[in-house]
Amino acid sequence: MIYNTLGNTNLEVSRLGFGAMRLPTKSNNADIDEEEASKMLEYGIENGINLIDTAYPYHSEGLDGNGNSEKFIGEFLNENSLRDEIILSTKSPSWLMEKKSDFDYYLDIQLEKLQTDYIDIYMLHALTETDWNKVYNLDVLDFLDDCLASGKVKHVGFSSHTEIDYLIEILDEYPKWEVVLTQMNYLDEYYQSGIMGLNYLKELNVGSMIMEPLRGGRLVQNIPQEIQELWDMAEVKRTPVEWAFQYLWNRDDVDCVLSGMTSLEQVKENIRIASKTDIISENDQELIREVARTYRTFLGNNCTRCGYCMPCPHGVDIVNCLTEYNIAHMMGDPKASAMQYFTLIDDDSRADSCVDCKECLPFCTQMIDIPEELQKVYEYFGSEFDHF
Ligand code: SF4
Ligand code: SF4
Repeated sequence: MIYNTLGNTNLEVSRLGFGAMRLPTKSNNADIDEEEASKMLEYGIENGINLIDTAYPYHSEGLDGNGNSEKFIGEFLNENSLRDEIILSTKSPSWLMEKKSDFDYYLDIQLEKLQTDYIDIYMLHALTETDWNKVYNLDVLDFLDDCLASGKVKHVGFSSHTEIDYLIEILDEYPKWEVVLTQMNYLDEYYQSGIMGLNYLKELNVGSMIMEPLRGGRLVQNIPQEIQELWDMAEVKRTPVEWAFQYLWNRDDVDCVLSGMTSLEQVKENIRIASKTDIISENDQELIREVARTYRTFLGNNCTRCGYCMPCPHGVDIVNCLTEYNIAHMMGDPKASAMQYFTLIDDDSRADSCVDCKECLPFCTQMIDIPEELQKVYEYFGSEFDHF
């Protein structure tokens, strides 16, 4: 494993962080397969991962839910006496805050779930312009000062899907930010705060953590033929996962890349890649840019499958509707995706069940007009499976 200094925290973090938002599950998203997930964490830690990132809602049934990820991670660390060996990162559910005392209320719940009396990195979760204005007016900065003074939190930060202007505004508001989590991969250099955000973090010596390194799996699954042909031209042959991670680890403004791993095989593969120094040549950097340009011509929409828009009050399976639509676009094979769309998604969860209530819109991390996209999905697949 290779380690980086996380900005001005002076923490030495494994450059691959364990994201605990896509752990293996059994009957539903809240039902973590603890036996399998424990094996993954054991392997990861034994092989050098020293940062685990979770959040209040991870592995809950819905956005407002009190998820089981923190609880599982707390039990795992406690049972294995690993709490002090691990840099534990979690996030405050900004969207649930209605009054100032709510910050402490949720922090205390999280400390209890995590079975600890301190959190190494505590981030305000998924700050949007609206949520930032709200928590700012609720004196969130006083709360963060108090957390640091009491020792309940060692380092504070935020995760963000905002554009660069807002990222800068939030950063400039508080000199004690030490860590920021933003979305980055070779398709998203100019999306949200992108490269400019990472440059600014570097300038301030604020630690940078990365989410969506594989863009919800899009960069590594169902690789279109045109993309594979480009990869085949590379000076050094790499798998799609290697390209995605090494692109990030070749940047000097990236400290830690979070990967939400779902299987032991993924943990093993990602650690293998994270343990290898792999300098990408100028020619191969240009190839990555060409791959990104080509991918953009295939995009249906920007959904990353984060699931923050779920559950839809009208039962629409937004994530899988958008995913099947995207796969159909990328693969240029509507028939195969239509088969998946009509067999994997229940009758009353398909795109035509959307009533355009727009309740999901504020939750989309990618600012997608979800009902508009679902209308496209409906027009593309129709309401009955008659694609053969
Ligand atoms: S707009 Fe459609 S997908 Fe979004 S919450 Fe309403 S019914 Fe569900
Ligand atoms: S529609 Fe938006 S919030 Fe929902 S899964 Fe896709 S990116 Fe995430």
